[in-house]
Amino acid sequence: MSEEIKNQTGETKGGISFIEQIIIDDLKDGKNGGKIITRFPPEPNGYLHIGHAKAICLDFGMALKYGGKCNLRFDDTNPEKEDVEYVDSIKEDIRWLGFDWEDREYYASDYFGRLFGFAVDLIKRGLAYVDDQPAEVISEQRGTPTRPGTESPYRNRSVEENLDLFERMNRGEFEEGSRVLRAKIDMTSPNMHMRDPIIYRILKTPHHRTGTTWNVYPMYDFAHGQCDYFEGVTHSLCTLEFEVHRPLYDWFVDQLMTGDYRPRQIEFNRLNLTYTVMSKRRLLELVQEGRVSGWDDPRMPTLCGLRRRGYTPESIKKFIDLIGYTKFEAINDISLLEHAVREDLNLRAPRVFGVLNPVKIIITNYPEGTTEEVRVGNNPEDPSAGTRTVPFCRELYIERDDFMESPVPKYFRLYPGNEVRLKGAYIIKCEGFRKNATTGEIEEIHCTYDPASRSGDPSSNRKVKATIHWVSALHAIEAEVRLYDRLFSHEDPAGQKDHDFREFLNPDSLKVLNNCKLEPSLSKAEPGSKFQFQRVGYFCVDPDSSNDKLVFNRTVPLKDTWEKVKK
Ligand code: ATP
Ligand code: MG
Repeated sequence: MSEEIKNQTGETKGGISFIEQIIIDDLKDGKNGGKIITRFPPEPNGYLHIGHAKAICLDFGMALKYGGKCNLRFDDTNPEKEDVEYVDSIKEDIRWLGFDWEDREYYASDYFGRLFGFAVDLIKRGLAYVDDQPAEVISEQRGTPTRPGTESPYRNRSVEENLDLFERMNRGEFEEGSRVLRAKIDMTSPNMHMRDPIIYRILKTPHHRTGTTWNVYPMYDFAHGQCDYFEGVTHSLCTLEFEVHRPLYDWFVDQLMTGDYRPRQIEFNRLNLTYTVMSKRRLLELVQEGRVSGWDDPRMPTLCGLRRRGYTPESIKKFIDLIGYTKFEAINDISLLEHAVREDLNLRAPRVFGVLNPVKIIITNYPEGTTEEVRVGNNPEDPSAGTRTVPFCRELYIERDDFMESPVPKYFRLYPGNEVRLKGAYIIKCEGFRKNATTGEIEEIHCTYDPASRSGDPSSNRKVKATIHWVSALHAIEAEVRLYDRLFSHEDPAGQKDHDFREFLNPDSLKVLNNCKLEPSLSKAEPGSKFQFQRVGYFCVDPDSSNDKLVFNRTVPLKDTWEKVKK
């Protein structure tokens, strides 16, 4: 499978992405003193999602691999949308992925003074001016990619007037939106970003870190490249949409540079996943509108959502390794992510018995009031995981769909007259059943067992066609189990013309089962612990779980059944 997948990634050769190759070459050429410094630059305006993990794994991963450092830098240039809640969650999620920025926690807001000074400097050099026109007019004058822009009537203001106005903008003398500072570059440039971009705007919302110190804030484009420069970043890795911004970042750095060091920006494709949305704005809408239970709803593509769902950091890294880094936008199949978590949990999740849709069986020839302990393995993939015992007695639960009153062809599980093995225990034979007179539902299945068939006994070599899991009715603990499915029923919910992405929300993305029966060893399972319910899937204890009520989330079913459902 992995060969097939690697081929889709295009630009990975011998396991080295095109970005890694550039880094290797730069280091070989002794650029920047043979050092590598990267940064991960989140805007604290939402929780991190799996797309961010792709950037994090690259930023931190490359620095780690080549003996460099990766800074964490919050790009907090917009006080209206940002919050400390987001700062804290971002740090928690990066740590969870296993990366460490040590003491290098930086903020764009740490550089507000230097950026302001740089803006003043540009004004003094005749390279920036205050524009009094409203945003719509400025935007109209920018032209289009095929039609050059028109110069603002304020473009040739004197340096003195610009300095005076900019200082007064910052003192709070003017209303928001009434004036902006623009870089004076080229209104006819074929690159729209070079047409006198706005670099400072007036905002009167207090900032979560600098309070009311500033009344003007730098635009993201005026901060990002310079912050890289201030920090000595050598490789500034970002997503493809910033490719067209690169000439502008270079232009700013050109004005700042004193030596020959400059950050090198390299762009790669964003991670997009089928059946979900990835933009923070849309994720925030889902949260605010109550369409999910929060940022950490296990259906969300956020890192906290995936964590709650039972994903491990290793599974996420494995997935990111599989999809690789390229120069082409694409949409990755979410089943590849599910494949990665299955492979990872297969190695580490202890096996247990859990019955999701129970029906009771009574073993009529088993002595009443007797319990025996049968020994079963904890993980066939990991012999060091050892074994445990589970109690066996006369009354048990099995899955409702492991029984059929009238079997369809090729059905080998329990039906009247047929035999199956109870995993780790005995072979039983169905002798009859009892139905509810009004509903017609099967209420009890009556079986006999073969005392000579106990698993592991040397005398027991009899084979039957099916083995099913079970839980002792006397010892079972009850649990709520939350079954998650894809949040959207369309592959690309946000990409459908004339449709709002919410129209494609999957109404069956959460199904809650209240009457699940689990083996007693699970009674003390801690939130976050992960198990394979044998024959069923991977499950993880939810933080909502308590001693009174166990709650499990299904991470993934054992096999990818979705493809079948679609057909
Ligand atoms: P969104 O579009 O979801 O709001 P963003 O790009 O505005 O995301 P930032 O907080 O600015 O979010 O992103 C921090 C870093 O993560 C940036 O370097 C950005 O390029 C990268 N990043 C964001 N989304 C993805 C993605 N889907 N795939 C890969 N990298 C991403
Ligand atoms: Mg951004």
